[in-house]
Amino acid sequence: MPFISTRGGMQPQSFSETLLEGLAPDGGLAVPEVMPTVDGETLERWRALTYPQLATEVIGLFATDIPREDLARMTADAYADFPAGVVPLRAIDDDITLVGLSEGPTLAFKDMAMQFLGQVLEYTLERQDSVLNILGATSGDTGSAAEHALRGKERVAVFMLSPQGRMSAFQRAQMFSLDDANVHNIAVEGVFDDCQNLVKHLAGDLVFKRAQHLGAVNSINLARITAQVVYYFWAWLRATDAGGWTELSFTVPSGNFGNILSGFYAKQMGLPIRRLVLAANENNVLDEFFRTGIYRPRNAAQTLATSSPSMDISKASNLERFIFELVGRDASRVVGAWHELEEQGFFDFSAELSRFVDEFGIVSGTSTHEDRLATIRSVYESSGEIIDPHTADGVRIAHEHLEPGVPMLVLETAKPEKFAETIHEAIGIELAYAPELRAMLDAPQHVTEMADDEHALRAFIEENALH
Ligand SMILES: *Cc1c(COP(=O)(O)O)cnc(C)c1O
Repeated sequence: MPFISTRGGMQPQSFSETLLEGLAPDGGLAVPEVMPTVDGETLERWRALTYPQLATEVIGLFATDIPREDLARMTADAYADFPAGVVPLRAIDDDITLVGLSEGPTLAFKDMAMQFLGQVLEYTLERQDSVLNILGATSGDTGSAAEHALRGKERVAVFMLSPQGRMSAFQRAQMFSLDDANVHNIAVEGVFDDCQNLVKHLAGDLVFKRAQHLGAVNSINLARITAQVVYYFWAWLRATDAGGWTELSFTVPSGNFGNILSGFYAKQMGLPIRRLVLAANENNVLDEFFRTGIYRPRNAAQTLATSSPSMDISKASNLERFIFELVGRDASRVVGAWHELEEQGFFDFSAELSRFVDEFGIVSGTSTHEDRLATIRSVYESSGEIIDPHTADGVRIAHEHLEPGVPMLVLETAKPEKFAETIHEAIGIELAYAPELRAMLDAPQHVTEMADDEHALRAFIEENALH
């Protein structure tokens, strides 16, 4: 399967080639030249598969340049460390079933994609006899998922910048308790945007980037998107009966539009999905887009710090892949939209608004701090389940989009232990940590503190990078 750019300026590349690139050379995002499709017969055959086997089938439709047996070994390794099972489903009431995406090592759904990415990166680097130094900025979940997926790998090192004193104690412990030689935690004196700017400067210096073999594992990475497509198929197969061709709906707590884009790809591939419900928090730039057709990204100062922090985004990098489909895969119209945005601060697809629902099945809603607390409380009172704040945004918005006879699945994007303060605020309970989490919280921490100084960071990378 060749991959092309949403902006039309890239020679078709293989899956392995796009894997190590960030943006396409023309500034666009890599997308499959033709979306693969799955027919009903194949879907039924997939019912009997384990999660890693299903992942091999689904990812294999995209990663056609990787031999099946290699892919099978990688998916088996990626999803081995999920003690409660990979992606269990559990009903919380008559209407809503949670899809458990947070059973991996860092208790958030990003493990689902990162664990596979760790495998396929090491594999690809081995085939090319090269190394990669991942440089990233995190406000919490992405950094820890990347570090846990890449720790101990021989051909990859991680340099992860985080804003000093801005992460929760749990998030700090998850990252800083790692003592693997290939993991470098760097706490920058500044906020997340300062970290992000440092990364942009260094990655934008092509000479430095090449000399230090710099790479990224951010949410536009195509291997992450394809690994996420898998759990939509898995959840559909678990929630429907054999032989039925039942449509069901998914609600997705959203930030960068990566997770829900994967659901959109699953729907494009032929999975019977009725609605994809996008749940936003107070930073509702995407809800605004799907309600009005107008996309108006915000700046850092306009981005609120909320109690579902992993959804605090002001621009959604993966939205471009949706726009590409919306304009019938006409790259010149994608480029035109960005020009429009540059000139006037927004782009406007309000003329297409009815297609958002009718053709693509996407609807949306916004949840607030009060909604989140009330939802955590009501789910706890009615079912005894404690859900995390992001999942609570999902449950809240899912209720607004229930339809008779259409099962609603809500993606559980994190475990409550990661956000104990908000859980306490909602239901007055101090969460008890499992012994291994307690040990992690108490472990010695490994982190290098650094000023917001590009030169210091360059020197640190030159000294510690794999070559
Ligand atoms: C990253 C994240 C999200 C948002 O996912 P996107 O793919 O960026 O839309 C939601 N919830 C949690 C807990 C996350 O870590």
